This record gives sequence, structure tokens and C-alpha cells, in this order.
Amino acid sequence: MKIALIAHDKKKSEMINLAIKHRETLSKHELYATGTTGTLVMGETGLSINRMKSGPLGGDQQIGSMVAEGKLDLIIFLRDPLTSQPHEPDVTALLRLCDVQSIPLATNAKSAEIMLNALSKNEI
Ligand code: PGA
Repeated sequence: MKIALIAHDKKKSEMINLAIKHRETLSKHELYATGTTGTLVMGETGLSINRMKSGPLGGDQQIGSMVAEGKLDLIIFLRDPLTSQPHEPDVTALLRLCDVQSIPLATNAKSAEIMLNALSKNEI
């Protein structure tokens, strides 16, 4: 499966912890991420990740474009709901496209855990 990882700044440590915990599962899939998230997760886990631009510089839109083209199967997007983001329109557009295309999308760590556990058992 093709999986995208995105985390807002205050959620990056949660994303790293998630990737460390589920490293083996993630390593069996093709990974994509926004720039900073991808760099941090790669550095902490050694996973190979295709990195887009940083989210605020267009990375969310790049991921959105992949969703629109049916090139992603699952997205983990750890959003920070308590901080306003300069690229909020891009975030909203990505979430919308996931719904348009019915792409599984986890927007918090506990949902992501459920998805990754299901993925590890080939239930997705
Ligand atoms: P980043 O982008 O991984 O480059 O920080 C995430 C985002 O804010 O959308």
C-alpha cells in the first residue's frame, strides 16, 4: 500500500513515536510524507520515505494531488486542532479529497494506531 504521513509541528513527536512503534509494519509499504515530517521520521526510524515539500510550502497539496489521482491508499495526518495553521486551506482541501476518494484517513494518534494494527494483520 502507499501510505502518507503528515504531522503538524506539535504532533511530530507523536508521529515519531507511532512510526517507531509500527516500524515493521510501515517498512512493508511505500511511504510518502510532507518534508519535515518525512525527514524526522526517516532520521528516527531509518524507514525509507518519499518526501514532498514541507506542508506550508505545498506538501499537503502534493499529497492531495496524489489522492485525487488515486495514488495513495491510506493517510495518517496528525493535525494540531489547537493552533491555527498558515496553510489551513490546503489542510481542508486534503481532508476533503480523502472523503471524495474514500481514502482511509486518521487525524489523531489513536485512530492511526487502530489503522496500523489492522494493517499489520492485513485487515485493510
Ligand atoms: P511538514 O508539513 O511535515 O513539512 O512540517 C506538515 C504540515 O504542516 O502540513
